[in-house]
Amino acid sequence: MEELTQELAALDARSLRRRLQVVDEVLPGGKVRVAGQVRLNLSSNDYLGLSLDPRVIEAACAAAARWGAGAGASRLVVGHLALHEAVEARLADFKGTEAAIIFPTGYMANVGTISALVGPGDVVFSDRLNHASIYDGIKLSGAVLQRFPHRDLNRLEQLLREAGGARRRLIITDSVFSVDGDLAPLTDLAALKARYGAWLMVDEAHATGVLGAKGGGLAEALGLTREVDIHLGTFSKALGSQGGFVAGDRRLVDYLHNRARSFIYSTALAPPVLGAIDQALQIVVQEPERRLFLQRQSENFRQGLVSAGLDILGSETQIIPVLVGENDRTLKFAARLMDQGLMAVALRPPTVPPGRARVRFSLSAAQAADDLSRAREVIVATARAMGLGS
Ligand SMILES: *Cc1c(COP(=O)(O)O)cnc(C)c1O
Repeated sequence: MEELTQELAALDARSLRRRLQVVDEVLPGGKVRVAGQVRLNLSSNDYLGLSLDPRVIEAACAAAARWGAGAGASRLVVGHLALHEAVEARLADFKGTEAAIIFPTGYMANVGTISALVGPGDVVFSDRLNHASIYDGIKLSGAVLQRFPHRDLNRLEQLLREAGGARRRLIITDSVFSVDGDLAPLTDLAALKARYGAWLMVDEAHATGVLGAKGGGLAEALGLTREVDIHLGTFSKALGSQGGFVAGDRRLVDYLHNRARSFIYSTALAPPVLGAIDQALQIVVQEPERRLFLQRQSENFRQGLVSAGLDILGSETQIIPVLVGENDRTLKFAARLMDQGLMAVALRPPTVPPGRARVRFSLSAAQAADDLSRAREVIVATARAMGLGS
């Protein structure tokens, strides 16, 4: 314990110590009560406000009443309820694929899928800014990891050429990057994967429900559904509850049933969560106005920050970072915003490269336009007072 205490003290000395923050109450309008103060929550992934939608909550309750609070077993044992079957069919339809498989979390979907599909003798090409669960899945698989600089297609092509002898080649990218809020060059990635006979896997965690006419994500928005071999996503963000998924070819899904250890050796997702997912999928398809509102608000927000001279790192989405640089200054910026009723989290290394610490804002369609424009003004004024921007 003494050693652990010393390590924590070393983190503290570099402004890298993390602490849990209690949320005392979740409020409508994308707000929370923390430390006795109501704050606009600019750190949530509940992008469409569906976690508090009465229809979603009602569906969760109804599923619990009908099927129980838990599934009782893993999917291959006796936990595969008709409810799982129905939600997976709806999900495949939503994604425009033949089949789909639900995992307990998005993290487990990445770890289980990657380690099932590749192993020693294979090469995985992964964007440097991909989510940690992708990195962990590659490590677990034993495949060779080739990380390419963020969105660097030339470097990726060079690596693909050098990996000609590999058994399998797998390109993986986030579609919306969780740290910078920018987009993957998906059209070019699809061309490269075809040219080099690789698979293309796209993690749409932050795009599902938000991008595309039906809300399917970036692949849908760009008409690339068939070009992507492995569509990964989560229900824990815009869909408002919990769980991860993979959608694609029927044979891919059958294979994952047999080989994805995080699917096989974990209890099936609980019925109330499936009830919530089933309802949220319907709302996402039927109410495009939610994502259109979010897209419009995000654009206003980004424009306001950019015209104040702040560096938003190329964000094109509802995830909008403001680059600060040093860790302690970033913490101070976030703390000052907190004092003014804005809940925003400082991202520091190792989440971001050293010297590139930032405060990240994520917007939700649950938030009123007035609240968002007030937040933007507070951010700009606070940044100015700290000598950020122009
Ligand atoms: C959040 C996230 C995950 C993990 O999903 P959970 O359902 O929260 O486990 C995976 N990939 C990306 C890109 C994410 O942002």
